[in-house]
Amino acid sequence: MMPDIKANIDAVRHEIERTCKHVDTAINQPKLIAVSKVQPIEKVRAALEAGHRVFGENRVQEAEERWGELKPDYKDVELHLIGGLQTNKASNAVALFDVIHSVDRLKLAKALAGEMEKQGKKLPVYIQVNTGREEQKGGCALEELPELLAGCKALGLEVVGLMCIPPANEDPTMHFALLKKLAKRHGLPRLSMGMSGDYALAAAMGATDIRVGTAIFGARDYR
Ligand SMILES: *Cc1c(COP(=O)(O)O)cnc(C)c1O
Repeated sequence: MMPDIKANIDAVRHEIERTCKHVDTAINQPKLIAVSKVQPIEKVRAALEAGHRVFGENRVQEAEERWGELKPDYKDVELHLIGGLQTNKASNAVALFDVIHSVDRLKLAKALAGEMEKQGKKLPVYIQVNTGREEQKGGCALEELPELLAGCKALGLEVVGLMCIPPANEDPTMHFALLKKLAKRHGLPRLSMGMSGDYALAAAMGATDIRVGTAIFGARDYR
């Protein structure tokens, strides 16, 4: 059965609002990115019909297929690339997306900067940090962050913040705290953190961008 997508979005929004208000009424509401990867197109349409316009995808090709179909009807959608990006997909990524959350190495930064120049499109980007030092995960190592940031700056990339995906089996609190500390140290205003299981905590800790999939669309069916 199709879940009530509008009700789910409202519930997530309400929970974020409640948390932010509890912590500090002056906190700005974070942006809610509805993560539509792998979800059937009817669910994504339901979110669009409910008025939601900010979506996240983690694969360029899948996003091209889906949004190639949807974007003509919803020209004001804002698409965020939240998954790892291969250098050879930089061109397609710049063409499709509005924001990129997963810059984690200089080679990719160079490819993106080159494509933005070529396409005359300047996208805000986030540096993904591997706060859990997980080998299989994307994100730059903590020690590499200063150099990568300097490299991005030299390339003229507009780095607006940091992003992290905490290890699945750990309390995310210290990862969110670390990301916040790093962003502050480098004068970066935005923090992309928090998913279905921990978005309220992320909101309480100052996230500006929250990436929620399952809590809005239901479990992903990878079959
Ligand atoms: C899939 C994904 C999400 C959403 O995860 P849920 O637990 O379904 O909310 C958030 N961020 C990234 C980077 C993802 O790949």
